[in-house]
Amino acid sequence: MPSCDHDTCKSCAKTGCAQHGQMAGESAEQYEGRLRLAERMSHVRHKVLVLSGKGGVGKSTVAANLAVFLALQGRRVGLLDVDVHGPSIPTLLGLESYSAYVQDGCIVPAEAAANLHVMSVGFLLKDRDTAVIWRGPMKIGVIQQFLRDTEWGDLDFLVVDCPPGTGDEPLSVAQSLGDADGAVVVTTPQHVAVNDVRKSIMFCRKVNLPVLGVIENMSGFVCPHCGETSDIFTRGGGEAMCTELAVPFLGRIPIDPGIVTAGDRGEPFAYLKSKTPAGLAMTAAFGPILALADQDPALA
Ligand code: ADP
Repeated sequence: MPSCDHDTCKSCAKTGCAQHGQMAGESAEQYEGRLRLAERMSHVRHKVLVLSGKGGVGKSTVAANLAVFLALQGRRVGLLDVDVHGPSIPTLLGLESYSAYVQDGCIVPAEAAANLHVMSVGFLLKDRDTAVIWRGPMKIGVIQQFLRDTEWGDLDFLVVDCPPGTGDEPLSVAQSLGDADGAVVVTTPQHVAVNDVRKSIMFCRKVNLPVLGVIENMSGFVCPHCGETSDIFTRGGGEAMCTELAVPFLGRIPIDPGIVTAGDRGEPFAYLKSKTPAGLAMTAAFGPILALADQDPALA
């Protein structure tokens, strides 16, 4: 490993620092970028990635509601949407009219609440029907820039809504946030989706990213009239897989048409406060993530 020259490492004062020293083959620009990322992330106490093996399982819904839940608990939260293919966070949080801009060399995130700031690839698109047709290296470049240059200030939690799958894009996020607390993996109960999430767990293991737990979304339907749960798809596939792979199971979130309405209207705060069975299930599933901050000193 290359060693860090104490005199030139601007990020830490450790001699022999392999993390911050300029590495063989690394350009001065890449080195500067890595230092900026390290500096930015030094203001973030907990980094949580939200992953899924495939699209459409509710990953962004979980990421948005997790960020809102943490903010409702009084934490300072950043929500970063780097799902370059389908950035739905602006819609889910009612921030579609926001356009990102740069101030003093940093990207200014949108304010969803005093303690919840949001940055999304969607804020760069001229209109929401624009398709992202960037090639791989460009997508990775945008992801890196968002991680490095978004001005969050001090955060208790940074929640990152990652692109689905186990390709270069989630890999780039995981590698850039080298010391993240871990990943929340979202799946649906069907066999095919559960197999996809198995790949996500293997992915986490390969990149040394702890799995904070799996959420089985769209698991059963609670009848709004009688309150009885019907299992529309099979049930329990996510939990069985967790037992098999020895990762925590965070819980099931039932299908609730109210989630779609709240998402389309950009009103997750109201939804989470409404104490529906799905809202309560989310709150319970997010408890262990909030608990990551249990040992933190009190807010400044
Ligand atoms: P992904 O990020 O995995 O592509 P989204 O979070 O965008 O998925 O969700 C896809 C659609 O499913 C959205 O319309 C969302 O409102 C809906 N949805 C997500 N979770 C639920 C749920 N538990 N009940 C009902 N609809 C849901």
